[in-house]
Amino acid sequence: MIVFPQTQQGDNLMENLEKEVIQPSLGDKVGNFLGFVGIHVACIFAIWTGVTWRSLVIAFVLYWTRMFLITGGYHRYFAHRSYKTSRAFQFVLAFLGTTAMQKGTIWWSARHRIHHKHSDEPEDIHSPKVYGFWQAHIWWFLGNKHGSGITDLSRVKDLVKYPELRWLDKYHWVAPIMLTGLCYYLDGWTGLIVGLAWSTVIFWHCTFLVNSIAHIWGSRRYQTKDDSRNNWFIALLTMGEGWHNNHHHRQGYARQGVKWWEIDTTYYILRLLALFRLIRDLNPVSKNKLKSDPVEETAVELTAP
Ligand SMILES: [Zn+2]
Ligand SMILES: [Zn+2]
Repeated sequence: MIVFPQTQQGDNLMENLEKEVIQPSLGDKVGNFLGFVGIHVACIFAIWTGVTWRSLVIAFVLYWTRMFLITGGYHRYFAHRSYKTSRAFQFVLAFLGTTAMQKGTIWWSARHRIHHKHSDEPEDIHSPKVYGFWQAHIWWFLGNKHGSGITDLSRVKDLVKYPELRWLDKYHWVAPIMLTGLCYYLDGWTGLIVGLAWSTVIFWHCTFLVNSIAHIWGSRRYQTKDDSRNNWFIALLTMGEGWHNNHHHRQGYARQGVKWWEIDTTYYILRLLALFRLIRDLNPVSKNKLKSDPVEETAVELTAP
């Protein structure tokens, strides 16, 4: 169980958090594992529930909505702060993001920032280069090795200062339970099995591909210190996250597909949200920045193996 300090305020709190590394309990680990396996097994029950058009529409909507919440919310906003928004909309992104069942954004962002700081080094627990494909794909959060499940709060001080985000990290299961009820209300057991379980399993594995395949297969535009790749197929499945070598090169930019033909649906939606003033100060890759970027000038086009 994640327990955050509740009583200290201001500098004292931050000083405390700087040292805080939260270990998951045995119950957390077992629950995590059973939940993951259980949703996979539940998919088979479609043999008995059948498949309806309504359940397929639910699955389609849930796949793409939650994909955006992870790519545009958890990843580009919380982990990289590539744009700004109000505290209210920040909470909306974080709360809806927990429906993706990838825990809370504090845990997610802390892990992701370690990935960038130590990409493809032993500290990067989902590096396919160091630990192999399956560790990079699923074992890094299901297994018990290399500190999986640990939350290093010193890396997310900008997030832990918000009590509502800390609450969401502790109660990340609230929104998924509400979503389960909604799917059942909309299409009964078929809504649960096809609409929710199918879409969740497919969505999970597509996002995991960014950790595994996008560090193995694809092209490299930039000579980053890691093995990150640009993979157009993963980019289509993940609303632009497959332009992973671009992203490792410029982690703070909201736009990951830097060429016009590098489809980056997350960025297009972010532009739309900016148009409606829900978010602001989007940090795109501007032409001026491209020109003044020294790594870009010396970058070499590399061929995928
Ligand atoms: Zn990466
Ligand atoms: Zn990132």
